[in-house]
Amino acid sequence: MTMQDIYARIKGRCHTLLAEVLFKKPLKMNNAAPHVSFTFDDFPRSALHRGGDILAQHGLRGTYYASFGHMGEESVSGSLFTREDVEMLLARGHELGCHTFDHCHSRETRPEAFEASILKNRQALHEVSPGASFKSLSYPIVGPLADTKRRAGKYFRSCRCGGQTYNVKNADLNLLNAFFLERSKGDLSLVKEVIENNRRERGWLIFATHDIDENPSPYGCTPAFFEEIVKYSVGSGAKILPVDEALENICTGSNGN
Ligand SMILES: [Zn+2]
Repeated sequence: MTMQDIYARIKGRCHTLLAEVLFKKPLKMNNAAPHVSFTFDDFPRSALHRGGDILAQHGLRGTYYASFGHMGEESVSGSLFTREDVEMLLARGHELGCHTFDHCHSRETRPEAFEASILKNRQALHEVSPGASFKSLSYPIVGPLADTKRRAGKYFRSCRCGGQTYNVKNADLNLLNAFFLERSKGDLSLVKEVIENNRRERGWLIFATHDIDENPSPYGCTPAFFEEIVKYSVGSGAKILPVDEALENICTGSNGN
């Protein structure tokens, strides 16, 4: 490792720490039941057509984080959503979330540019689906700079990051934790353990991934793996809702019903 690598790593760690402690939007949770949300970053078509179908088979819905600047494009996670997919997603009761218009790198993009890309994405959604609005955001690629977190927090009820864990007791709505399924490398026991811990602590576990495909990208998973996780989550007795509905449920305290 070069000195430059070491310096970059320290700098990255400092940014992460600052973003963790500054500009919090606290959510005190006292959940009667555990909560689980399924989210898909970038909104690849397969996430709706395969992942969404699996959720629907269990009477569930998910949250899809879209960057309208990349609508209709090919990506490392396969074909991304089309205009028709947005209509289908909304008609099926899924939540559409913001992932910035340009899929901005959350740490390398200047906070002003990141904010402008949030507004541009909102405008693009308005043009595609005039009645719809974003209630939540997921930070693209990595955790945000502190000032980016501050700016994003003005526009959404919640902003989601990563962290490979669930939210418990005192959550930060400007930096919610999520567990990326692809990082478990197909190890179901690892995912079951986090579902079990979330059940025991009555937390809010937000799963994240990208494509759902028989031959997934390094950022996605197979339909069989995804379905196992959905089934196990249902079996844990968790309330399973899109992100903003889960938040509403947690805030109103009606979450044991
Ligand atoms: Zn992304």
